[in-house]
Amino acid sequence: MHDPYHARSKPPEPAVCPQCGIVFHEGRWQRLPRPAAAHDHVCPACRRTEDHFPAGYVTLSGKFLTIHREEIMQLVRNEETNENSGHPLQRIMGIEDQQDKIVITTTDVHLARRIGEAVHHAYRGDLDVKYSPDEYLVRVSWER
Ligand SMILES: [Zn+2]
Repeated sequence: MHDPYHARSKPPEPAVCPQCGIVFHEGRWQRLPRPAAAHDHVCPACRRTEDHFPAGYVTLSGKFLTIHREEIMQLVRNEETNENSGHPLQRIMGIEDQQDKIVITTTDVHLARRIGEAVHHAYRGDLDVKYSPDEYLVRVSWER
């Protein structure tokens, strides 16, 4: 699976993202101390955020959600923290809290699926995961 955002922005090493400060080292973006002489290069996660172009959409809905909204969102946040600690390109881009549903956008397809699976694992309900034919975009829906 090759995310066009990753392919497009293969930077020279070492490089530092001027927006979030992560470092491109040995072929991947990592959380490292800033190298002495580094190129500025916007990382794929910040680029997607700038472009308002999420890789993943997670839609949570249903009556159970409206009652347990806070604890479910805590779980979502925890999932992001866990993923992000080892994989700094895995981020939540935005959370749109609507009356009867919550739409979470992510910078990577993997995180969207992880969030959906974590909520499903903890609260059961109905989970649906749909990838676009090229697999660069995933739409995850959970309802209970
Ligand atoms: Zn960045």
